[in-house]
Amino acid sequence: METMWFMDFVKSLFGIKKNNMINLILFGPPGSGKGTQATKLVEQFGLTHISTGDLFRYELGNNTPLGIQARTYMDKGELVPDSVTIAMLENKMNMTPNPKGYILDGFPRTIAQAEALDGILAGRDTQVTHLLALEVDDEEIVRRLLERGKTSGRADDANEEVIRKRIVEYLAKTSPVFAYYEKTGKSQKIEGIGSIDEIFARLSGALS
Ligand code: ADP
Repeated sequence: METMWFMDFVKSLFGIKKNNMINLILFGPPGSGKGTQATKLVEQFGLTHISTGDLFRYELGNNTPLGIQARTYMDKGELVPDSVTIAMLENKMNMTPNPKGYILDGFPRTIAQAEALDGILAGRDTQVTHLLALEVDDEEIVRRLLERGKTSGRADDANEEVIRKRIVEYLAKTSPVFAYYEKTGKSQKIEGIGSIDEIFARLSGALS
């Protein structure tokens, strides 16, 4: 215990106390604008962006065993199993040493993933600092995703049935993650309708 105290003291002397990190969960249903806003937040706050959807699509594009496994779920609009997703996230975090903080986009999507994330961050001397939830209604989501599907090349955006399945998954398995972090006062709702800049101003206001 005493050694830990001493190490914290030394870290604080050199200004490298990791607890100053911002670790943001950018939350919200599919199509709520998480990816767009994450790109802007990365520029503004110098955080490391991790999107589990992008990581899966990368694996899928390279036909890796992980990609082949994930595709069977993604194409149906279902969540990829927790064990696979958590291992992939931890692996990605290990590849980015000493970040100023993380923007997690599309993770955690289940309570089990949230518990695993808390453990991973605690092991790095840090924690989730904010969960900002973009609020967009279902019909707007379906409209946006069908529109995106015309150009994104994503099979899961092209089919209304798959889109509706993703919304069902979100409501059943992902939305409880909001309440999980609300207990520690970290969750906050952000109006997700408006211009990209308006929504960005709301998000950065909540972070500053
Ligand atoms: P969107 O937010 O537009 O639904 P994403 O790009 O975040 O899309 O994710 C696409 C798909 O990848 C999901 O529908 C799911 O199958 C899979 N996926 C992404 N992140 C996770 C996760 N944290 N847990 C389980 N599956 C995930």
